[in-house]
Amino acid sequence: MKRDLAIIGAGTAGLSAGIYAAASGYRVTVLEMAGTPGGLCTSWSRGGYLFDGSAAGLAGTGPGAPLYRMWKELGVIGRCPLRDPVSFGSVRLTDGRTVTVWTDIDRFEAHFLENFPRDARAVRSFVRALRACLRFDMPLAGGDPKAAGELRNPAGSAIAALPVLLRYGTRTLRRLLAELEDPGAVEAFGNLVHFGGADVPLLTVLLPLAYAHRKMTGMPRHGWLSFARALESRLEELGGRVLYGARAARLRIEDGAVRGVVLADGREISADRVLSSADGRFTRSVLPGGDVSGADFDPRRMSDQPVQVNLGVAEDWSEYPGPLTWLLPDAPVAAGRPQHRLTVHHRCYDPASAPAGKSALMAFLESDYGFWKDLEADRSRYEAEKRRCADLVVQAVERFRPGFAGKVEVTDVSTPRTRERYTGNYMGTMQARKPDAGMIRTLLRGAPRYDEPGLDGFWQAGQWVEAWGGITTAAQSGRNAVRAMCRKDGVPFASGI
Ligand SMILES: Cc1cc2nc3c(=O)[nH]c(=O)nc-3n(C[C@H](O)[C@H](O)[C@H](O)COP(=O)(O)OP(=O)(O)OC[C@H]3O[C@@H](n4cnc5c(N)ncnc54)[C@H](O)[C@@H]3O)c2cc1C
Repeated sequence: MKRDLAIIGAGTAGLSAGIYAAASGYRVTVLEMAGTPGGLCTSWSRGGYLFDGSAAGLAGTGPGAPLYRMWKELGVIGRCPLRDPVSFGSVRLTDGRTVTVWTDIDRFEAHFLENFPRDARAVRSFVRALRACLRFDMPLAGGDPKAAGELRNPAGSAIAALPVLLRYGTRTLRRLLAELEDPGAVEAFGNLVHFGGADVPLLTVLLPLAYAHRKMTGMPRHGWLSFARALESRLEELGGRVLYGARAARLRIEDGAVRGVVLADGREISADRVLSSADGRFTRSVLPGGDVSGADFDPRRMSDQPVQVNLGVAEDWSEYPGPLTWLLPDAPVAAGRPQHRLTVHHRCYDPASAPAGKSALMAFLESDYGFWKDLEADRSRYEAEKRRCADLVVQAVERFRPGFAGKVEVTDVSTPRTRERYTGNYMGTMQARKPDAGMIRTLLRGAPRYDEPGLDGFWQAGQWVEAWGGITTAAQSGRNAVRAMCRKDGVPFASGI
């Protein structure tokens, strides 16, 4: 007997869950309140420019990584052209030099040693850790060990890399910066993290760099919406469907079991199983008891949320191999905070992202949710602050590229409130949780719980369920949740390939 599964949210986790559930024989309906798929993982067009809602890449997108299999199963490989970055970004140092974080480790090492001979020991030690991480692969639960060329030995790779994982899973970037002598090295290593501060474990920097060296951090060549569309088309190919403009309001529960979803417009979607991949606070609020008092929703924990400034500019930025960071010693204020540096990403690798010879640029400013929430009471002040954010970015770039300001054709600013409105994520969070010093314990503990004790037929997945956010995590989360659901329902889990 085929079971009906209703999934709340067509973000990465919801679409991934839908694909695996459809492949495993469930009749899948994904309910999405917005008009497009992807949730936080999206792109949008303004005045002929295409801007992205996410910044970095996926993990494990090259043959040989266990996760490559997942990207094939999800239809990403084959439907969504990916590109591997050659650089994680360049920083213009206070002394005028430009230093680049090349993804090729040998090139990175030579470049950093040449620029920072006083910190040669620290550079070599960082590179040694990076090389050790080359042996580590994020495992894919339930991958097919016989699939040639797809699965290395993740358990073995974790054991080989264990000393590095333990050391750098607890050591923060801030600690590394404190050990450096050359102020330029501090500026360059500090640029390894574009947002989120220096208190992240170094492992969160090392692992993506190691994957990038192996050409396994693919980024959609044509924007993150093209990635979401690839998932959507795979879901439809397997018989699932997405209902847009379908905002879930509450669950229909009978005799301790979930029976469907009631939409905000009054429609009812009957289902034997419901999986929520929506905002975690929303999900908790519709469960019996509706308790949203947990530490996960503590506004103090979530308050840091960036503002995104997009610019369409009539000049070509393809000379930069990746994002470019400038330090701002006078720390101009916008978005309620002094801004100490500015990182500008461009999308010149995608000719469709801007008219010929022009560039779609994206920058993030540090900010906090409460600042925008308060401003919103006065719409004109809110809009004025958005303009101030755009002006800060334009003026900061103008200092380094005279004439830039006159070439800006499009400005587009999204605040944490914008993200909250469009995706429902509490406080506009871009990652429900960030990796912290407990990251290794979490990695070793494995997957979290996806069902809900006391409510039969209810499942959850996505960035609010996992230990940290991110697109790869969300895709794995949908897969793992459906594996658990299949196990409980006595249905063989199928990946569709
Ligand atoms: C600016 C920015 C940059 C980022 N950069 C990166 C990056 O470089 N690399 C990376 O890995 N990650 C990045 N992230 C994080 C990543 O995008 C998210 O962690 C991930 O996409 C979360 O996926 P999800 O499916 O769990 O949740 P979401 O994407 O939030 O999906 C939830 C979906 O549920 C829908 N929904 C919510 N409530 C309801 C309801 N009541 N009814 C119906 N539908 C509902 C929403 O509209 C949404 O489509 C970035 C995020 C942002 C904002």
